[in-house]
Amino acid sequence: MIKTDILIIGAGPTGLFTVFEAGLLQLKCHLIDALPQPGGQCSEIYPKKPIYDIPGFPEVLAGKLVDNLMEQIAPFQPGFTLGERAEKIEKQEDGSFVVTTNKGTQHHAPIVAIAGGLGSFEPRKPLLDNLSNFEDKGVAYMIKDPEVYRDKKVLIAGGGDSALDWSIFLADVAAEVTLVHRRNEFRGALDSVEKVQQLKNQRKINLITPAEVVGLQGENKLERVIVRKTDNSEEIDLEVDDFIPLFGLSPKLGPIAEWGLDIEKNAIKVDNTLDYQTNIPGIYAIGDVNTYPGKLKLILCGFHEATLMCQSAYQRIYPDKKYVMKYTTVGGVSGFDGSKKEAPKAVVKSID
Ligand SMILES: Cc1cc2nc3c(=O)[nH]c(=O)nc-3n(C[C@H](O)[C@H](O)[C@H](O)COP(=O)(O)OP(=O)(O)OC[C@H]3O[C@@H](n4cnc5c(N)ncnc54)[C@H](O)[C@@H]3O)c2cc1C
Repeated sequence: MIKTDILIIGAGPTGLFTVFEAGLLQLKCHLIDALPQPGGQCSEIYPKKPIYDIPGFPEVLAGKLVDNLMEQIAPFQPGFTLGERAEKIEKQEDGSFVVTTNKGTQHHAPIVAIAGGLGSFEPRKPLLDNLSNFEDKGVAYMIKDPEVYRDKKVLIAGGGDSALDWSIFLADVAAEVTLVHRRNEFRGALDSVEKVQQLKNQRKINLITPAEVVGLQGENKLERVIVRKTDNSEEIDLEVDDFIPLFGLSPKLGPIAEWGLDIEKNAIKVDNTLDYQTNIPGIYAIGDVNTYPGKLKLILCGFHEATLMCQSAYQRIYPDKKYVMKYTTVGGVSGFDGSKKEAPKAVVKSID
């Protein structure tokens, strides 16, 4: 069982910045995210897009913002459970919570901060009858650790950046890479399309287009994949260890919708007059996932909500302690010149 002070569901920009604000109050955080990497929408949807409305940054790429946030929170040593979806929440007798993921990992904390954005990103799956028989037995919808595919025969399906980028990357890792796409044209970056073409010419990627995967076969795990040309001119029977359809991810509020929280239009209602707490004491909702009058789905609003929420969480955990707020520049703070990795000190002093 993983134990922490604030369990954050969602490692998007809001969840990441929560670690900083909690760290200033000497509260430990652990983050769960369904995606294999932190950054939420910024990493998954638009890592290369510039953002212009982060205070102090006239322009910053979304991916760079996530890198900066990771650097900023590193001194507080947050824990991460990545590639797992928070599925179930159970309130304990003492008012704390146990949250269990779809992979069975359990987390225990007095405070839960839901920073789930648009919801957990669920993979779009190909329509194949026996697909579920092979999930985690040769079929995966995202790549968590490319080393898993070392010296394996891998078939990737899809026509976007993920399919192209991972085919390029795995060409040097896997024994064989086949890329199947139902059109001749790809939706990804031109540069990546050209690179795939080069690797095809060098026989490092077996490119089959326009075609679709129409069948999966295997005894206890995936062994063969049947690919059909879209004009029905040919059916190709391929021996493969792994089939990775990368058809994109669509966000869904998912299991959180069943947790007994007040939900309005797919978002969690919170008390914005105070601390962004939900109708269940001890559970907060911050960032894109919440709703209240005047709500704006912007990164800077998520940062603000995280900051106020942490103050309230501190009071909940330590009801008898008073605190005085100090700025991070007070008291010889280290860790802000980029060279030192110590946590900022003496930002908020608790007084018994
Ligand atoms: C194309 C585009 C451009 C944008 N441009 C800007 C901009 O210029 N400026 C700006 O301020 N905002 C912009 N936004 C909006 C901004 O990205 C969001 O406001 C921001 O990402 C919200 O952050 P968040 O951390 O609240 O949620 P998210 O970034 O959505 O992160 C939520 C995370 O929670 C995870 N999650 C959800 N449910 C679960 C669960 N049950 N278990 C585990 N994990 C879960 C998800 O996988 C996700 O990683 C843009 C959005 C898009 C799509």
